[in-house]
Amino acid sequence: MILNHATLDQAGDYDVAIVGGGTAGLIVANDLSGKGLKVVVLEGGGLKRQPRSQDLYGGEVVEPDIHPELTSYRVRAVGGTSRIWGGRVIPFDPIDFEERAWVPGSGWPFGFETLRPYYERAMQALEAGRYAYSPETALPGGRRELAPGIDGPHLTTTIERFSKPTNVWRRHGRALTQAPDVHLVLNATVTAMRLRPDARTVSHLEVRGPDGTERRVRARATVLALGALETARLLLASNDVRTAGIGNEHDHVGRNYMSHLCTTAGTLTFAGRGTDIAYDYERDADGIYVRRRLWLNEEAQRTFGLLNTTFRTHLPDAGNPDHGNAILSAMFLFKSFVLIEYARKFSERRADAGSYLRHCANILRQPRRIARFGGNWVTGRILADRKIPSVVLGSDDNRYVLEFHAEQAPNPDSRVTLSDRRDRLGMPQLKVDWRLSALDIDSIKRSYHVLASELSRTGTGRLDYDEEELVDRTRRHGLVGGHQIGTTRMADDPRRGVVDRDCRVHGTSDLYVASASVFPSSGQANPTHTIAALALRLSERLTQDLRR
Ligand SMILES: Cc1cc2nc3c(=O)[nH]c(=O)nc-3n(C[C@H](O)[C@H](O)[C@H](O)COP(=O)(O)OP(=O)(O)OC[C@H]3O[C@@H](n4cnc5c(N)ncnc54)[C@H](O)[C@@H]3O)c2cc1C
Repeated sequence: MILNHATLDQAGDYDVAIVGGGTAGLIVANDLSGKGLKVVVLEGGGLKRQPRSQDLYGGEVVEPDIHPELTSYRVRAVGGTSRIWGGRVIPFDPIDFEERAWVPGSGWPFGFETLRPYYERAMQALEAGRYAYSPETALPGGRRELAPGIDGPHLTTTIERFSKPTNVWRRHGRALTQAPDVHLVLNATVTAMRLRPDARTVSHLEVRGPDGTERRVRARATVLALGALETARLLLASNDVRTAGIGNEHDHVGRNYMSHLCTTAGTLTFAGRGTDIAYDYERDADGIYVRRRLWLNEEAQRTFGLLNTTFRTHLPDAGNPDHGNAILSAMFLFKSFVLIEYARKFSERRADAGSYLRHCANILRQPRRIARFGGNWVTGRILADRKIPSVVLGSDDNRYVLEFHAEQAPNPDSRVTLSDRRDRLGMPQLKVDWRLSALDIDSIKRSYHVLASELSRTGTGRLDYDEEELVDRTRRHGLVGGHQIGTTRMADDPRRGVVDRDCRVHGTSDLYVASASVFPSSGQANPTHTIAALALRLSERLTQDLRR
C-alpha cells in the first residue's frame, strides 16, 4: 500500500527497508511480498519524472566532455531507470566471474553457476522469455551464424534477448500497492543512515519529504537499491559514526567506477550473398525479440589477453546524406525522438543547409519506403506492448558499420567522491571522475585486430577501420551513459571490497546493497539481468535470515 511520508513515524518498525524503488528495489520488494515480512520501500521520486526531484541527482563531473551530466541517463521516479532503458537482457559469461591474470582486480567471490538459477528467474521479472542465449537454443531450426562460416575458435555467434522493455513500476506497481505487507512511500529521500554505538547495525534511516521534513525509519535489515552512483553517495554521506563513511574502512567506496565501452567504428563487408547475413531482429517461439551478434569467446580472451567484447552490425552513419536512405535521413532529421544511445552515434559533422536539403531529397525520393517503415514503427514500436528494440536496416552492398560493446576493466582511480556542494535537502553532491585506462583502449584495438584476422582467415568478410579513429571515438563516445557499475565492489576479504558475497556491507550486520555497484568487474553484458539476478538472490537470503 502507498503510505504518506508524513505518517511514516507512526508506521512502526519494519523487517526490511528498501531504499530506492527502481529496478532492483521493486524486484526485491515484489519478491519479499507474501513471505511474512513487513517491508517498506522508500522512493525518492514520485509517480512521474519531475525536474524538482531529478535535480537532486545533480553533481560535478570532472570531464564533462566524456561523461554525461549526472541528471541524465537516470530517472529519479518510482520505477527508476527502467522507465527509459533499452531492454537488452544478457547474463554475464562464466569467464567474467574468474580471476583473470590479464585483468587486475577481476574475480567474483563465486562462479557463474551460483548465479545461474537466479538468472533464469530474472528472465520472468524482466519479461525476456526463456534462458536461451545460443542460436541453437533460442531459434531452433533457424540459421546458426551471423554469416555462414563466420564462427571459429575465437569467434562465436551468440544471442541477445530483449525485454518488452519492462518498466518495473508498471509490472509490479499494482500488486505492491495492494499488498498489505509492503508500504511504498513516494517522495521519500533517504539522506543518511545512522549507526548504533556498536557501529555495526543501522539505528535508523533519515527520510526527508520534498519540503525537507525529516522522518525516521527503523528496520531489521536495510537494502540500498539506489543505483551505483547514489549507493556510494549515501554510504559516504553517512559518516557520523564511521567518519570515512559506512563500509569505507579500506577506502573502496566509490572506487572502480565502471561503465561499458560502446561505439561505432569501421566497416564490415561480408563476402557472400546479402540474404545470408542474419543481421535483423527475429522473434523466438514465445514472441521475444532476439538478435545475433559476434562474441570474442573465452578462448580468444585467454589467448590474446582481451577484455570481454562483442560486435554488432549497425546502421550506416545517418548524418551523412550520401547513404541515400530515406529512413536514415528521417532518423537524422528527427533525432530528438531517437533513443539517446543511438543519436549520439550519428555523424559529428555539422549539418549545413546543403546536407539538410539532401536529407529531405532522400526522403522525397522514397515516399513508399518511408510510409511502410512509419507504419511498421507505429504498430511495432509505439503501439506495441512488446516493442521492436530499435531500427535495424539491411545493407544493399553487404557493408555494415561495426559497433562494439566491451568490458571496462576495474580501475581504483576511476571513482566517485563527495563534493563540497550540497543539494537542497542538505545532502553532499557527488563528484564523478570516470577514467579510461590503457588496458581498456589496448583491448579494443586488439579486439578489432583479432576480428579482422578471423574474417580474413575464414574468408567471410573484411573489416576496414582506422585505428586512430577507433581510439578517438572510444575516448570521446565510448562511455555507455546508462551503465553505472562497480562503486561498492564485492569481495570476501573486507580489505578488497565493500560488500561480501551475500551483498552485505562489510563491518555491518544488517546493511545490504542491490545494485550494479557490487559488480567486481563489468563483463560485456548490459547490467540489468545481473542486477535482477543478484536482487532475487538477496531477497531469498533475507527471507531465510529474517524468518529465522
Ligand atoms: C537509455 C538507457 C538504456 C539502457 N538500456 C539498457 C539495456 O538495454 N540493458 C540493460 O541491462 N541495462 C540498460 N540500461 C541500464 C539500466 O536501466 C540500469 O542498469 C538499471 O535501471 C539500474 O537499476 P537500479 O535499480 O540499480 O537503479 P534505478 O533503476 O536507477 O533505481 C534507483 C532508484 O532509487 C531512487 N533514489 C535515488 N536516490 C534516492 C534516495 N536518496 N532515497 C530514496 N530513493 C532514491 C531513484 O528515484 C530510483 O527510483 C539502460 C539505461 C539507460 C539510461
